[in-house]
Amino acid sequence: MTQTKKIINHAKKEGRKALLEPEAKIICSEYGIPVTKFRVALNQKEASKFADEIGYPVVLKIVSPDIIHKSDAGGVMVNLKTSTEVAEGYNKILENIKKYKADAKIAGVLVQEMAPNSIEVIVGAIKDPQFGQTVMFGLGGIFVEILKDVNFRIAPLNVDDAKEMITELKAYPLLKGFRNTPPSDIDTLVSILCNTSRLVMDNPEIKELDLNPVLAYQNGAKTVDARIILE
Ligand code: ADP
Ligand code: MG
Repeated sequence: MTQTKKIINHAKKEGRKALLEPEAKIICSEYGIPVTKFRVALNQKEASKFADEIGYPVVLKIVSPDIIHKSDAGGVMVNLKTSTEVAEGYNKILENIKKYKADAKIAGVLVQEMAPNSIEVIVGAIKDPQFGQTVMFGLGGIFVEILKDVNFRIAPLNVDDAKEMITELKAYPLLKGFRNTPPSDIDTLVSILCNTSRLVMDNPEIKELDLNPVLAYQNGAKTVDARIILE
């Protein structure tokens, strides 16, 4: 059985609809969607050790089935540069979570590679009651939230569908390269969209998927946060 099926079955057995970030990222990796390197630490010492292995700077994040929006809960710390900062950050995150939701179940603290700043894009999927699995693409931040500059296509997507979803955005010139912004790797974004389509088509029990943000680079891209919700 694939890792993806195992993770989905495991969540179902536990009665969970929301997959944890590390679970969602393992699934993304299995489908060829690039994600940040990560390990899940169960104590302070492990967090420092994993950070040493991954390389600095790192990001720490809470892993909890009871916390969906991690930064709202004080559950994300970015740009930690030493093993001491990581050890302190580990405690700080647990403290923040305790204040935010005293009875939150904690599965560990995610230690992950800090992806360099770049243009942020969003890849999503929803299972439409009428049309079935549908994939979404847009640029992050104000482009999605204020300008609603996003494109949808019903899955399965082929390469041409995925290309259109990208090039038909009003903000496409930003991805093509603009003034000081270098061009983004459109082929990688196309492959992420096609792989997302394959992922949700293979796994019809996925109700929502949200890769937000994906950092787009001149060469490649990296998914920094991944959420998957089951039916
Ligand atoms: P949530 O959406 O649950 O609050 P995220 O994982 O999206 O948590 O983290 C919040 C923000 O922190 C992200 O939108 C991104 O700007 C930044 N961030 C998170 N993880 C990383 C990472 N590995 N590298 C760089 N920036 C990150
Ligand atoms: Mg996020």
